[in-house]
Amino acid sequence: MSFKARLERRIARQVDAALFRRRIELTSGQRPDVTTADGDFVNFCSNDYLGLAGHPAVVEAMSDAASRHGAGAGASHLVTGHMRAHHELEARLASWCGAERALLFGSGYLANLALVTTLAGRGTRLVADRLNHASLVDAGILSRATVRRYAHADAGDAARRLQGGGDDALIVTDSVFSMDGDVAPLEALDALAGQYGAALVVDDAHGFGVLGEGRGALLEFGLSDHAVLMGTLGKALGVYGAFVAGPSVVIESLIQFARPYIYTTALPPAVAAACGAALELVRTDVDRRRRLFDNIARFRRGAKAAGIEVVPSETAIQPVLLGDSRAALEASRRLKDAGFLVTAIRPPTVPKGTARLRITLSAAHEPAHVDGLLRALPGAIEAARLAA
Ligand SMILES: *Cc1c(COP(=O)(O)O)cnc(C)c1O
Repeated sequence: MSFKARLERRIARQVDAALFRRRIELTSGQRPDVTTADGDFVNFCSNDYLGLAGHPAVVEAMSDAASRHGAGAGASHLVTGHMRAHHELEARLASWCGAERALLFGSGYLANLALVTTLAGRGTRLVADRLNHASLVDAGILSRATVRRYAHADAGDAARRLQGGGDDALIVTDSVFSMDGDVAPLEALDALAGQYGAALVVDDAHGFGVLGEGRGALLEFGLSDHAVLMGTLGKALGVYGAFVAGPSVVIESLIQFARPYIYTTALPPAVAAACGAALELVRTDVDRRRRLFDNIARFRRGAKAAGIEVVPSETAIQPVLLGDSRAALEASRRLKDAGFLVTAIRPPTVPKGTARLRITLSAAHEPAHVDGLLRALPGAIEAARLAA
């Protein structure tokens, strides 16, 4: 069979299993009311939790920096791509998170690859939550460590997986789980890391900007200095990129050894400048976080009143579990007909049999948006039940 025939067959199987993925083309920017090739929708599946992606101050910082420093960094950080905009942002991120130092990356995916391959290698016992983000799973594979996955959010099981692994261990977890919205038992994992002389890697992609008054999981949970934070700049901060914040020795090791840091071009300086403006809004515009949490509470209250089963999540991520992939697709289609964008999340993004609608709330949603979604949900869930 030719390589093309092999790929065609693989894609056909994806269609048969209701796992085929499609992209929605937006003709507007990222915001609560988006325009797509299929019409206008209220968007409930963005990670722009604070509504900063289109904020005038962020956009202006980006265009102003681009006009002064150009469109691209032109080289990796270790060659000539490390610019003042990067350097200043790193210093501000470190101080905001209460860490010794911070280091910028092109994306959260890259940052996780860098961090895990630097802290773990052949012979390391890497203990990881079963529901960690795909980038952490891939990072574990790339590191060649011995990976032991523990039951979701179960620090006791993590302790058992650490036993007998020797003194070279690493614990890795999402802070807020990306598809469930619940939070890891970070204090218990931090204590466990201390006991084993291990680092605790905390992927704060969905916590940074939101938790700990915007400072992220390190400060929200008062984690010790063996915790290392990975925060992203493309979600609550609304821009792009990521950073690692933690002890100096970790940051210096990343600069020296992390291949996903060394062998890639630095972020455009204008992106760093836009992130700086977004960080300033995270710091000063506390009303945004209040509006986000008001919307979360409004959604949960309304869902309970409408008999919609919600999971124990206090964060912007509010999944509605449907089980079957076909059911999830059908519910998503029904919501789209009603004017709401909520993507169906299916395996392998989530475990088999746990396909779901992943609803995300933003500070930029109006209460009326949330109420409209709540009115459309029961019909969509019923359609899903019939499709399953
Ligand atoms: C989105 C996400 C990432 C990847 O971050 P990017 O900057 O989008 O590459 C990593 N971890 C988690 C938990 C995420 O949700």
